[in-house]
Amino acid sequence: MELYFKLPTTTNSRICFLLLYRVNSQVSKEFIFMTEVKNQPEERSLNFIEEIVEEDLKSGKHESVLTRFPPEPNGYLHIGHAKSISLNFGLALKYGGKTNLRFDDTNPVTEETEYVDGIKEDIKWLGFTWANEFYASDYFEELYEFAVTLIKEKLAYVDDSSSEEIAAMKGTPTEPGKDSPFRTRSIEENLQLFADMRAGKYKDGEKVVRAKVDMASPNMQLRDPIIYRIKHAHHHRTGDKWCIYPMYDFAHGQSDAIEHITHSICTLEFVTHRPLYDWFIEKLKIFPSKQYEFARMNLTYTVMSKRRLLQLVNDKHVSGWDDPRMPTITALRRRGYTPESIRTFNEKIGVQKRDNIIDVSLLEFCIREHLNRIALRRLVVFDPLKVILTNYPEGFEMVRSENNPEDENTDSREIPFSRELYIEREDFMENPPKKFFRLAPGQKVRLKSAYIIQCDEIIKEADGSIKEIHCSYLPESKSGADTSGLKVQGTLHWVSVPHAITAEVRLYDRLFRVEDPMSEEGDFKDYVNPDSLQTISAAYAEPSLRNAKFDERYQFLRKGYFCLDKDSSEEKLIFNRTVTLKDTWAKEKKKG
Ligand code: ATP
Ligand code: MG
Repeated sequence: MELYFKLPTTTNSRICFLLLYRVNSQVSKEFIFMTEVKNQPEERSLNFIEEIVEEDLKSGKHESVLTRFPPEPNGYLHIGHAKSISLNFGLALKYGGKTNLRFDDTNPVTEETEYVDGIKEDIKWLGFTWANEFYASDYFEELYEFAVTLIKEKLAYVDDSSSEEIAAMKGTPTEPGKDSPFRTRSIEENLQLFADMRAGKYKDGEKVVRAKVDMASPNMQLRDPIIYRIKHAHHHRTGDKWCIYPMYDFAHGQSDAIEHITHSICTLEFVTHRPLYDWFIEKLKIFPSKQYEFARMNLTYTVMSKRRLLQLVNDKHVSGWDDPRMPTITALRRRGYTPESIRTFNEKIGVQKRDNIIDVSLLEFCIREHLNRIALRRLVVFDPLKVILTNYPEGFEMVRSENNPEDENTDSREIPFSRELYIEREDFMENPPKKFFRLAPGQKVRLKSAYIIQCDEIIKEADGSIKEIHCSYLPESKSGADTSGLKVQGTLHWVSVPHAITAEVRLYDRLFRVEDPMSEEGDFKDYVNPDSLQTISAAYAEPSLRNAKFDERYQFLRKGYFCLDKDSSEEKLIFNRTVTLKDTWAKEKKKG
């Protein structure tokens, strides 16, 4: 096994490291993680696609840049798509160009309008604007004509062979394929048959159209690829107008050319398709769009394919595409991620030429950093223990607490403080170990933005469990006007019992138990983490959260970052934990 480091991207004070490992120089994986390095320059070097674009602009090959983002509307977008979106839209933004949104809707069976709408919403939310909204299905007529042109040039033919026969004649990577007996059909016959296919004279699979390229090519993609197939299926946009549909390879490059896309960026699995992409463009003498490939982005502890995500939805491992544990954009949004944090994440990971798995902690780092700057601080107790301040008078007072010490523009709020409080049960111990700086008999702590208290007495239930604790407060220790001269180590969050409101809190953990579910034996769904959702049905929150808003972000002090869930109502508040305050998984791993 080989291990080495690479430094792909830098941001002002942090640097991402690429840890690469190769096994038998065959399988290779990259893990990207990040650490802090002081005084790094703000600039980052160009990625390889930017280099190509700059060269093309300098040489005059193109005057401007036109990219496209081409999702197939067969599911919701995931964070991997966000990488592609950032890259395509980012290039156009950087070089004063434009980006088209093109739905690659050539497969009527899996595509739905719901997904089209979801995809558009997600791209907008990420902060990008497309120049034009197009559909590959807009070009069905032109694509049909392109196939007719190829037939007329003797570069395409109708094949009656079954899919099994075609596969058998394809050969292997080391042996050439065999010509189909239908390869030599006349132009007239081919034109007639193709027209009949379109007219619906044949059943699914009875005939296909193939490009006549090279049955002996070492590149299997060039061994007379199928360009049209018969599918009697309803299409989400063209309805029942068509019963023949172009294959991806015949639709994609030609759609690029029709739109005059200059740089058609896709993922590495299309490298072997590139000669075919160029072949069609050359033979059809259309706009010379060019394809460039970069590595798919994968993330640890999740899967990144719409098809597999759909399985998780259908098999009810999650509540839907927007279940906050999913890696979809709609789920990340619901969970409280911000578009800024996702864009920052994409900047940090850069653009790779080989397949890689990014450590999800890097994504979590990005959202944590953003939320630390924007989240409003609030006090919420998840597992309450009652504290009675025996020397505090009846009634209550309001204490002031800053909304966000990281943001000068936010002010403070008032929180009711009274004789009866809740603190977190885990913040009290009857027999504490050394260095337990929270509450214990005879020990003092500060209550956030309020007073120093001391534990005087434990009141127990008949079964010996702790019912409540009695404390005394130091009136002269009030935050902001503290004349007590005392220094205490611990500061606890709390809520006033008579003023507290209840809320449901949903705590999410990783969706899978293993880093790379796809590389494990058996079905990836066997590795779903059974404990990825923990629900606290009644947490106690300070009353200001009654006015929580969907577009606000909160830090529940010492608990994590939270946002209001879409299931919330006036009667019932529900919060999602976006991310913990610290990287708890890194700690777990160290513990081993
Ligand atoms: P999936 O398997 O998730 O459906 P896909 O590639 O089939 O992925 P498309 O809708 O065809 O999904 O993808 C639209 C664009 O997004 C394509 O250009 C594709 O290459 C890119 N893309 C998809 N997944 C990733 C990923 N994980 N990382 C980077 N780009 C991706
Ligand atoms: Mg696809």
